[in-house]
Amino acid sequence: MAKKQFKTESKRILEMMIHSVYTHREIFLRELISNASDAIDKLYFRSLTDDSVTLKKDDYRIDITIDKEARTLILSDNGCGMDETALNENLGVIAHSGTLLFKNESEKPSELETIGQFGVGFYSAFMTAKKVTVLSRVYGSEQAFLWESDGADGYTVKAAEKSEHGTVITLILKDDTDDEAYDEFLETYRVSGLVKKYSDYIRYPIYLDGKEESENSMIPLWRKSKSELTAEDYNGFYKGKFHDFTDPAFSVHYNIEGAVSYTALLFAPSQAPYNFYSRDYEKGLQLYANGVLIMDKCADLLPDHFSFIRGLIDSPDLSLNISREILQHDRQLKAMAKSIEKKVKGELERLLENEREKYEEFYKTFGLQFKYGLYSGFGANAELLRDLVLFHSLAEDKLVTFKEYTENMPEGQPYIYYICAETPAKAALLPQTERVREKGYDILCLTEDVDEFAFKMLREYNEKEFRSVSGDDVGLTEEEKESQKAKSDENKDLLAFIQESLGDKVSGVTVSARLGRHPVCLTSEGELSIEMEKVLSQMPQGGDVKAKRVLELNADHAVFAAMRSLFVTDRDKLKVYANLLYTQALLIEGLPVDDPVAFSEKICSLMV
Ligand code: ADP
Repeated sequence: MAKKQFKTESKRILEMMIHSVYTHREIFLRELISNASDAIDKLYFRSLTDDSVTLKKDDYRIDITIDKEARTLILSDNGCGMDETALNENLGVIAHSGTLLFKNESEKPSELETIGQFGVGFYSAFMTAKKVTVLSRVYGSEQAFLWESDGADGYTVKAAEKSEHGTVITLILKDDTDDEAYDEFLETYRVSGLVKKYSDYIRYPIYLDGKEESENSMIPLWRKSKSELTAEDYNGFYKGKFHDFTDPAFSVHYNIEGAVSYTALLFAPSQAPYNFYSRDYEKGLQLYANGVLIMDKCADLLPDHFSFIRGLIDSPDLSLNISREILQHDRQLKAMAKSIEKKVKGELERLLENEREKYEEFYKTFGLQFKYGLYSGFGANAELLRDLVLFHSLAEDKLVTFKEYTENMPEGQPYIYYICAETPAKAALLPQTERVREKGYDILCLTEDVDEFAFKMLREYNEKEFRSVSGDDVGLTEEEKESQKAKSDENKDLLAFIQESLGDKVSGVTVSARLGRHPVCLTSEGELSIEMEKVLSQMPQGGDVKAKRVLELNADHAVFAAMRSLFVTDRDKLKVYANLLYTQALLIEGLPVDDPVAFSEKICSLMV
């Protein structure tokens, strides 16, 4: 039979798995047991409402059998099973992913991070096995199917026989080499140890080599008391349950007694799942009614700004039919969602306060979510989220909170200043920042599209308004205002002439109060900034909004003096200068130049 090929990306990841480092190998057992348990959950849940499923709760089990001679490790479960389509779909593609998404090369994750991102569950079998077979029969069907693969070059699926429903996974372990031994996974004590270490909480009994007593205690981790549990227990549980390779950034475990009682166990991953910033990502928490899984991803429990949270809620107050009657539980769920939001916020604040580095790492991955939350809530989430966001400070060259920024403000600083740019390094070069910085005021760098929109929504922090250093009012002193007015009046006709030469490219030409050494910059008046225009113009419906551009000239610069004389001696040349300065201002802003060739020619004509 012709082999079917794994999807390209799957193949790459599979290769990584096959050559994965030794220390991670042992998790394959946890992954396979976790899948078996999920498959039993599915059948058990069905049995609650479907009389054709006749199994009793105690009938469910997972078995592990070791055959040293044959070098096989066999895992069997009597869960829901898979048919031919399911085998192809579930085991032919890793994580159902299309492409590996990286923002850019430098952010490319390490091999292990990549594996982790994909939640490779089943495929981890290839860390220890040279060949894997999956024999499966769906409950209620007579026909079984056999999936076989000996690694990255493909797999086959064919009809087969199996006396009971469920799934049997056989791993034929790799051969030992001089430096690598796989024999350890054929040792009963080792396998038993792994079950206890990683899968103790699994709700169904796991039997090893037909022993009568199960290897696991079967007490769900979240039902144990916090004092019994270590960070390692939580981390191990998280990784097993949510198929992650890295420890979570933090975990929270708590009980609420009251109108709605429940236990919550929540985790914040330390890296984003591969599809987090795509439409495919589904947020939600697992919902258990008294220990029985009734819903895999209950979205109502998590606000969008905390959609990265993984975890579960277990409540005795929920009925088993909740997935169908979700509306009837609306009030209960809302109450839970509120308290979950508060808990998560508290935990994030704790991390920010006590483990700054870790928080910043976390923030790099998920911080965007908070900014969207600030923006999309029309201010409703301001109180919740404003102390969780960080921005790069130009003065300190590091990330700061609003609180830190305002605490460091010198006496007399009227506003919280910000500037939009691609990177902090580029922001530092912008001439608009010159005067504000000379005054000893710090400026926050906004580097992401959503940032300025979020600032507009927030308006202020601690009664200090946010102001762009490129906006119309940067908070001049009376003296500065007077001096600017005097210079404007003095050059009124010149400014009017320049504006006329530029036509509708700008809505104003002014003498600048924000420039220091540089001759020119472009700013905007009104609510819509040039940066916002850039963002909106990339959106399908936002095409034709235009910021009101103002060309600001430095009246103390030699170029300005030159223009003053040209105004008297050679107005044609002055027109050329006006256009050159305007184009320079565009370049500084990172805006496209309509006719770069004409610009270049004009510069050349000045050079010769
Ligand atoms: P994940 O468990 O993260 O979805 P896996 O690669 O581990 O990813 O498994 C892919 C899918 O294969 C599972 O979602 C499940 O539908 C199916 N599957 C895996 N193992 C079993 C099993 N023992 N019984 C039934 N279905 C299974």
